[in-house]
Amino acid sequence: MTGPTGDDTAPAAAAAPAPPPSEHYDVVIVGGAIIGSATAYFLSVHPDFHGSILVVERDPTYARSSTALSAASVRHQFSRPVNIRLSQFASECIEHFADLVEVDGEVPDLGFRDTGYLFLAANDHQMDELRASHAIQRAEGAAVRLLDRAEVGTRFPHLTTDNLVGASLGERHEGTLDAFSLLQGFRRRARANGVEYRHDEVVGIDTEGTFRVDPDGTPHGEGRATAVRLASGAVVGCGTVVNAAGPRARWVAEMVGLRLPVVPRVRSVFAFDCRTPVADPFPLTIDPANVWVRREPPIYLAGTKPQPDPDAALDDFAVRRDEWEDRVWPTIAHRIPAFEAVKLVRSWAGHYSVNVLDANAVIGPPPGLPNFLFANGFTGHGLQHAAGVGRGLAEWITGGRYTTIDLGELGYERILANEPFLELAIIA
Ligand SMILES: Cc1cc2nc3c(=O)[nH]c(=O)nc-3n(C[C@H](O)[C@H](O)[C@H](O)COP(=O)(O)OP(=O)(O)OC[C@H]3O[C@@H](n4cnc5c(N)ncnc54)[C@H](O)[C@@H]3O)c2cc1C
Repeated sequence: MTGPTGDDTAPAAAAAPAPPPSEHYDVVIVGGAIIGSATAYFLSVHPDFHGSILVVERDPTYARSSTALSAASVRHQFSRPVNIRLSQFASECIEHFADLVEVDGEVPDLGFRDTGYLFLAANDHQMDELRASHAIQRAEGAAVRLLDRAEVGTRFPHLTTDNLVGASLGERHEGTLDAFSLLQGFRRRARANGVEYRHDEVVGIDTEGTFRVDPDGTPHGEGRATAVRLASGAVVGCGTVVNAAGPRARWVAEMVGLRLPVVPRVRSVFAFDCRTPVADPFPLTIDPANVWVRREPPIYLAGTKPQPDPDAALDDFAVRRDEWEDRVWPTIAHRIPAFEAVKLVRSWAGHYSVNVLDANAVIGPPPGLPNFLFANGFTGHGLQHAAGVGRGLAEWITGGRYTTIDLGELGYERILANEPFLELAIIA
């Protein structure tokens, strides 16, 4: 078992040999932010699940979780049916959130704003990609529309269209919400349903059986996770373990010897004020220069992918100010002339959990260790996919298969085979 390096609070190595567990839960979830809490919630409401659930969370303030630092947006514009379906389920949950998570008459306000997403294309290759994704999105029932350059200009007169070929616009169910309210809703309702949350840190996982992992990462044999060891010294027996540790997921995988190509990468978000507000409609806009911008009334948010984009230390939350000056502001000021006069009012940095194989999530068990489940590597779309993934894991844990959205394509097998499951619409 290994602790993360470069960490501000690296866990102490657990002592060996392990004492026997003094308590037992049917499911232990490592990490209680959006993925862990959505999983706990959907398990707690699954009609065939009657067990006990413990969520272990090292920082119950969630101050540095990806969830709390997210740009908190939802879109149906993906190129893989599984990703589109997960987002569609997010929309269902947003619509019915009050019914799902109400506790004592209280429901957190998600503040969902149905703004749409506008992906801009600057050349034929980009437009062909949007067209290919569009066909898949339409087949999945997504309300999306392709626009030529003239239509982009007519519908969104605040945009400079001179170097554009066209765009793809989501017309319904895409927009922005309050990430923390989404988390609190699932978490509070899960607790009301009997899920226990504990402030502690998982520092080791015990297994039994012949399960082993070769130095090249290949698993062999059959085994089971039997207990998690906590930084406090507690040893908790478990029927199933879910790795919902976000940017720390790789180290939780290492606790059972498995390799997970998921790394923390810094993403900065810049909040700015604009003297001349841009009129609605203002969809979340993805510029071909790989810069996104959206409204967060009364201000605006924007960001981009760092170039280069190194792995981050777990305690590195320094905002990359040069990105704002060198790339983000010049790009948005060209695209939206009103943004030539803006004032940066705030900025923050969070961690993406980037699956370096294909930037897509890794869901479900590895071969040979059926009660250890991944729910990791969501890059920039984990907030919106949490509900669908949580429900899928609840189905897997109770019945051994996915009964709603088939998450099989997101399985760990592709990691072992080194076969990327590529998604065209990654906002990296
Ligand atoms: C700047 C930014 C913008 C984003 N924008 C969007 C967006 O617009 N839409 C979208 O869908 N997604 C977006 N994302 C991605 C999204 O926020 C994440 O995919 C999602 O929040 C991941 O949730 P998580 O629960 O896996 O991870 P986290 O929120 O990081 O939670 C993991 C939790 O596990 C805990 N933990 C870790 N290790 C242990 C351990 N050993 N023991 C106990 N607890 C542990 C941590 O303390 C943490 O609370 C964005 C992310 C960032 C950083």
